[in-house]
Amino acid sequence: MYSDDDYIMLSAINHYVHCPRRCGLIHVYGLWSDNMFTSRGNIMHERADSEENEWRDEKHIVRSLIVISKRLGLSGKADIVEFTDDDGIIIPYPVEYKSGKPKKNISDSAQLCAQAMCLEEMMNLSIEKAAFYYGTPRKRYEIDITEGLRNATEDIIIKVHDMVKNRKVPEAKYEKKCNTCSLKDLCMPGTGRKKVSWYIKGLYSTNEEAS
Ligand code: SF4
Repeated sequence: MYSDDDYIMLSAINHYVHCPRRCGLIHVYGLWSDNMFTSRGNIMHERADSEENEWRDEKHIVRSLIVISKRLGLSGKADIVEFTDDDGIIIPYPVEYKSGKPKKNISDSAQLCAQAMCLEEMMNLSIEKAAFYYGTPRKRYEIDITEGLRNATEDIIIKVHDMVKNRKVPEAKYEKKCNTCSLKDLCMPGTGRKKVSWYIKGLYSTNEEAS
């Protein structure tokens, strides 16, 4: 069980799978910067957030629902949760909006699985399926919340907690994905010698002190 101060955000799971350093820069050092890709995602989430909760085809659609798990030390927001009544049992079905296309890694699936596990704990039930709505193409993709995905997600959550608690952010290492990373200018991958503390010092010092 985690204390309130130790909770990590659902998005940290996604960031960690994409790049542990990106996760550390955001969730340990509190850095952020938008680029074309993150701005697209913001617009898509704003659209999902701006609409009201509603009833549609026997489903109660709730938007921007806050979810938490005390067991996993997690909190965040579910874009959409569709609730259906199955003979008196309310079944939640989380739907996460993503601006891009389905990923080859489990970053999105692990984040959605964590959302489902939060809802399970909050409602004391089991969730077997969830879905993404990807902007490219504009289509839903359903996923199974399998045992394997749950285990992989919990492993990632433990690693993120460890990183945040010990403030251990990996050094920058240039990879192809760095080209589209919104934190590239803050991270400076490929510069090799420089350590995180140098970057942080530079951000909060005058130009002269940081040089
Ligand atoms: S620039 Fe590269 S190493 Fe740095 S945070 Fe982004 S993806 Fe990670």
